[in-house]
Amino acid sequence: MLAPTPTTDGKVAVVDLNGIVLTPCSPEKAAQNVADGLATLDVDGVLHLHYQPLAYRRIYRQVQRRDGWRCGWCGEAGTTLDHVIPLCWGGQTLLDNCVMACRACNHSRNNALPSTFLRWTGFKPTHAVIRHILANEKKMLRLAEEALATRPLSSCVSREEAQVWLAYHSNNIERVRPAPPEQPLTRIKADAKPFFQFFSP
Ligand SMILES: [Zn+2]
Repeated sequence: MLAPTPTTDGKVAVVDLNGIVLTPCSPEKAAQNVADGLATLDVDGVLHLHYQPLAYRRIYRQVQRRDGWRCGWCGEAGTTLDHVIPLCWGGQTLLDNCVMACRACNHSRNNALPSTFLRWTGFKPTHAVIRHILANEKKMLRLAEEALATRPLSSCVSREEAQVWLAYHSNNIERVRPAPPEQPLTRIKADAKPFFQFFSP
């Protein structure tokens, strides 16, 4: 059986689908990736990921350029990438499914659908991506699930997305897709302050 070959610092060399060298990882993490079906080891002990983590960064930069550092939900300063159709529902890391979001919105929404989150918060969506998905939410959910069923593992751009893909394709999606929550998992800030304005040029 193949085993990771630790480099001099005890890490395992990692490459992506295109052979691009990524940050080395620990032997334990490498073994877990192989056990999860997300990577294979070659004869030299190099870990080959079956998904494309570099694409995630590219899309993050594109969304950031489009949205600025502004949360698509509440309008405050936002630095995280948020999937409007959540990953566990098949949502992909693409420009037409992602917005920048503040940590409070991203964390409190968790896996809730856009319509649910807006009902909780009373926010009036102004972001075109959110409005488009909201207007067609049922259809968009169906399309996301169809895409998840047919697209390859290599279309995934993060470990989390790849784990959703694997769960779906092993008829185990319930493991990563909890029932839609009835209420926010964490406290939602009551009063959105225009914090962002202090950072505007
Ligand atoms: Zn927000």
